Amino acid sequence: MKARIEAAFAGVAHPGDDNITRCPYHCSECAKVAEFFKGRTSAGNLPEDLKAQHTALALFTPEAFQYFLPAFMLGSMIGYQKGDQIPDAIRFHFEYSAEAQGHYQVRMSKFTRPQREAIIEYLVHMERKGAGSSEHAIGMLSEESAFV
Ligand SMILES: [Zn+2]
Repeated sequence: MKARIEAAFAGVAHPGDDNITRCPYHCSECAKVAEFFKGRTSAGNLPEDLKAQHTALALFTPEAFQYFLPAFMLGSMIGYQKGDQIPDAIRFHFEYSAEAQGHYQVRMSKFTRPQREAIIEYLVHMERKGAGSSEHAIGMLSEESAFV
């Protein structure tokens, strides 16, 4: 499964160091996330660092989200404990809410079929380990019409 995630996301380009967060309020949380991920790639990150940075998943630009997602998926599979936030934070991005519709379409449209399949496999895997139900997110990821 690790290899499948890595293969699915191998072609995703780095978002660029100035495109990690784009905060209209210039808040310190977004600045800290941008600072942390500047100069990093999606490989070689410590699982405990990623766990500490899980709020980044909500603050990334769509490009940075797609690029760093495999690092978070792989990192959260190592030493997962019930209550860890990363699977929830990932699932949240693939659940549909009316308010987030505009952002949602942009995010969803970036993922290729192998990437979506790798995400589904990850969510099912984490569900079995005790993370919350991903039924809705998996439904949306499986829905071909959600990506046009
Ligand atoms: Zn912000």
